[in-house]
Amino acid sequence: MLLQISEPNSTDIAPRERKLGLGIDLGTTNSLVATKSEQGADVIADASGARLVPSVVNFNGGVTVGAAALELAVSDVRNTVLSAKRFMGRSRDDLSEAQLLGLAASDALAFDTGDGPKTPVEVSSEILRALAARARDSLEEQEEGVVITVPAYFDDRQRQATRQAAELAGLNVLRLLNEPTAAAVAYGLDETIAESSVVAVYDLGGGTFDISILRMERGLLRVLATGGDSALGGDDFDEVIVSWMVDQWGLVDLTRDQQRRLTVMARAIKERLSESSEVSIKASGEFSHFEDLPVTRETFASLSEGLIHRTMRACDQALDDAGVTEVAHVVLVGGSTRMPVVRDAVAKYFGREPLCSINPDEVVALGAALQADILVGNGDGDEALLLDVIPLSLGLETYGGLIEKIIPRNSVLPLAKAQEFTTAKDGQTGLVVHVLQGERERVEDCRSLARFELNGIPPMVAGAARILVTFKVDADGLLEVSAREEITGTEAALVVKPSFGLSDDEVAAMLRASQTNAAEDMQARQLREAKVEAESLLHGLAGALDADGDLLSDEERADLEKEAGALVTALQSDNTDTIRSVTDQLGQASLTFAERRMDRSIKSALSGVAVSELEAED
Ligand code: AMP
Repeated sequence: MLLQISEPNSTDIAPRERKLGLGIDLGTTNSLVATKSEQGADVIADASGARLVPSVVNFNGGVTVGAAALELAVSDVRNTVLSAKRFMGRSRDDLSEAQLLGLAASDALAFDTGDGPKTPVEVSSEILRALAARARDSLEEQEEGVVITVPAYFDDRQRQATRQAAELAGLNVLRLLNEPTAAAVAYGLDETIAESSVVAVYDLGGGTFDISILRMERGLLRVLATGGDSALGGDDFDEVIVSWMVDQWGLVDLTRDQQRRLTVMARAIKERLSESSEVSIKASGEFSHFEDLPVTRETFASLSEGLIHRTMRACDQALDDAGVTEVAHVVLVGGSTRMPVVRDAVAKYFGREPLCSINPDEVVALGAALQADILVGNGDGDEALLLDVIPLSLGLETYGGLIEKIIPRNSVLPLAKAQEFTTAKDGQTGLVVHVLQGERERVEDCRSLARFELNGIPPMVAGAARILVTFKVDADGLLEVSAREEITGTEAALVVKPSFGLSDDEVAAMLRASQTNAAEDMQARQLREAKVEAESLLHGLAGALDADGDLLSDEERADLEKEAGALVTALQSDNTDTIRSVTDQLGQASLTFAERRMDRSIKSALSGVAVSELEAED
C-alpha cells in the first residue's frame, strides 16, 4: 500500500491585475513587437504606422536602429550592420570567408564600426531595446517581461546569445520560444488540436526556408524535426523572373545597376501576382524600347517550379526525420507564402489547405505575444500551453525505498501539485522529505535533489496524520517543495533547481535508462508494494490480537496465527505473486475477527464508555 491518500490538482494562479507582456520576433531582416490586449494580439506600430522594424543598426557616434539605419546602409555601409542574427552565438570557426569580411580583426566575433567593434549580441540588443522602447512609447506602460522567438534549430549557444542580448537591453526574458511553435500558437493550435496531432510549419521568407514538424504532446507543441534551406527564399523567386525578362528581351551584358532595377521590377511583379492572375511588366525607362511583357500565374508557376520543388524535398526530409507521414495542420509563415503558387503546392503536398488567415509576417510575433501574456500572469489558469517542460519526473521517497512521482516528466511549467501523505508508524513525530528526480522506480536509481525534515507532528497512530506535500515549479524551472502537517499547521519548505547541472545528454541518458529498465523496475516496485502491504497487515493483526484477542476462541486464534506465520514465510520468498496470495488469504481469514472488533467498538461508543476505560477493564 502506498502512502498516498489523495491528489488534489491545484494550479495556483490567482487572478491578478493585468500586466504588460511583449512578444518579440527578432528576425534576420525584420523584427516586430506585439502584445495582447482585450481586443486580441496585435503588432505595435511606430508613430508613422510602420509595423516592421528592419533589423539594421548603424553605429557612428550614436546608435540608429530600424528604417533610419536601413537608409544609412547605402550611404554609410561601413558602420551599418545587417543580418546580425546570422552571427548570434557563432565563433569565427563557424563562419565562411565571405561572412568574415566586414568583421573586426579581433578574436571575439565582432563587426567593425565607427564606434569600435560591436558583437552580434550588442547589435541585437540595440534592436531589442528599440522594440521595447516602441512598445513603451505606444502603450505608455512599462512591460513586465518579454517572450523572444528564435529559430527551432538554434542551438544552446545561439539561444544563450539571444538571452544575453535581451539582458543587455535591460529586458526581462520570460521565455525564448521557437518560431514555428509561436506561429502554431497564434492559430490557437495549442488549445484546439488533439493530442498527438502533427503540425507542419512552412516558413518561406525573403532569403531562407524553414520547415518544422511539431507534435502536440501533453498540451505541449514539441518540435520533432526541423529542416530547410538557408539559401532559398523570396529573393530566388525574384531572380527567376529577372532571368525570364532577360531572356524575353534578349538582354546581354547587364550593368549592376540594370540588374538591380530588373530585380526591383521583378519583385513588384511577383508580389502583384499574388493579387492578380495576370500582370504586365511595363517596359519603362531604359527598357522602354522593349515590348511590355504579360505574365500569368501559370508562367510564374512554371518558372518557380524548381524552387518550390526544393522546398518540398526539404519537407520530405523533415517528415522523414520526424517519423511521421501525415499532418493535421499546416501553418504558413513568411512573406513569400503569400504567393498562390506556394500555397497551392503546399496544399497539394500535405493534402490539406494550409492555415494562412493571419499575416504571415506577423504570425510569429503574435504567437509570442499570446505566450507573453500568459507568462506575465494575465491568463485565467486554464491555458494549457506554457512551453517549458520538466525533462524528468519529480517525486518523493516513500516507504519501502520507492519513488512516488508527484510531477510527471513533460509536465508544462509553471505548475503546482499537492499530494497528501501520512505517517507510517504509530507516534511518528517527524518525516524526512526526500526530493528525487528521475523515471526509475527505486530511490537508488533516481537522482537525489534535496532532503529536509518536517518535525513537530503530534504523536498519532500510523495513518492518522495528514501531511500535504506541495511541489511548485515556476516558469524558470525553480522547484519549491513544502510539507505541511494539517492538524498543527507545522510547515517546512525548501527551494531547489532541479534541472541545474543536468545537460540534455544526461537527461537523455536517464530517460534511456528508465526505458531499458522499465520492466525490471515495475517488478521491483510490485514486489516492494506487496511486501509493504503484507507487513502492514501483519503489524495491524498483531496489534489487534493484543487489544481484542478475547474475541477469538483458542482455535480461531491458532488458525489466524498459522496464516500469519505463512505470510512471514512468504515474505522471505521475494515472490510477488506468493506474497500477494498469502496476504489475501490472511486478509480473508481475519475478516470475522475484524467484524467482531468493529461491533465491539460500535457498542462501546454507543454505551458511552471511553476506549481507555474499556482497556482498563480488560
Ligand atoms: P519576410 O522575410 O518573411 O519578410 O519575407 C519577405 C519576402 O516575402 C520577400 O521576398 C517578399 O518579396 C515576399 N513577399 C512579401 N509580400 C509578398 C506578396 N504579396 N507576394 C509574394 N511575395 C511577397
